[in-house]
Amino acid sequence: VRERQSQLQHTPAVTRDGEKISLQANIELPTDTVAALEHGADGIGLFRSEFLFMGRTGDLPDEEEQYQAYRQAVEGMGGLPVTIRTVDIGADKPLGKGRQGALQPSALGLRAIRWSLAEPVMFRAQLRALLRAACHGPVNILIPMLAQQAEIEQVLAQLEQARQELRDTGVAFGPIQLGAMIEVPAAALMIDQFLDVFDFVSIGTNDLTQYTLAIDRADESVAHLFDALHPAVLRLIAHVIDRCRQRGKKVSVCGEMAGEPAITHLLLGMGLRIFSSHPAQILAVKEQVLCADTRALQTWAQEVLASNDPRRLMPVR
Ligand code: PEP
Ligand code: MG
Repeated sequence: VRERQSQLQHTPAVTRDGEKISLQANIELPTDTVAALEHGADGIGLFRSEFLFMGRTGDLPDEEEQYQAYRQAVEGMGGLPVTIRTVDIGADKPLGKGRQGALQPSALGLRAIRWSLAEPVMFRAQLRALLRAACHGPVNILIPMLAQQAEIEQVLAQLEQARQELRDTGVAFGPIQLGAMIEVPAAALMIDQFLDVFDFVSIGTNDLTQYTLAIDRADESVAHLFDALHPAVLRLIAHVIDRCRQRGKKVSVCGEMAGEPAITHLLLGMGLRIFSSHPAQILAVKEQVLCADTRALQTWAQEVLASNDPRRLMPVR
């Protein structure tokens, strides 16, 4: 198995019909880039920056500390793209004890971008750190949990102000691509509004499932109802991928689904070409890519999407 794995690591992720697939890694800390590269990742599709903020007893990380962390990740990837998500704090990812303040952890509350926009000084410190890290390699900034136009506009304004603050103080910064997480059903349905503004999108299927089915991700008592293959979830994902492809915008999936080898063929059939998963899942997904024919999968995926019971049509594994 080891030998097969190390052989796979250097095999390009190309389907039987010649479609190139990008397999990227989800990471939590800058040092995780080592594991990402060891498993053959061709970029970081999701750096969950909230892990720099969680479980701390002292102050939250300032601009300089964040800059060093992002720079370390960017340099660690040696020129491959690094997608860093702004803090997605709240709900299942609380700040350390005593740091919570007015923030009540809740899936529907002041979390993710809502918290960042409520704390603009902190948000701009993060944006400045990200812009500065972009001097050292390709950086994509990803915004979590957006749901409406007003939030999009506020994000753009904060980003412009962060750039202006760096200019005013003569601090160097680099170019970035700006992306939105699509993880709220409202965002999936309004995807075109997002594509007017963002360079790329990444589908967060964990939260998209939670919010579409009204199943709290953190509640064990309803865990058996959590189903990313629910037809409503699949149709939202398919809609987002379709619109992105039609408009020539990059789209990835960075939720757990992207690391599930049993679902790889379905996502390929739906037109997905960029997957981001835990590093340990990348090679298993690549094996599925190597034996796939996307043209055949496209026809099959349409049948799965039309079904009220998609699981019945999934290969038994
Ligand atoms: C998701 O919601 O699918 C996602 C990738 O983000 P997180 O799991 O960090 O909420
Ligand atoms: Mg999420």
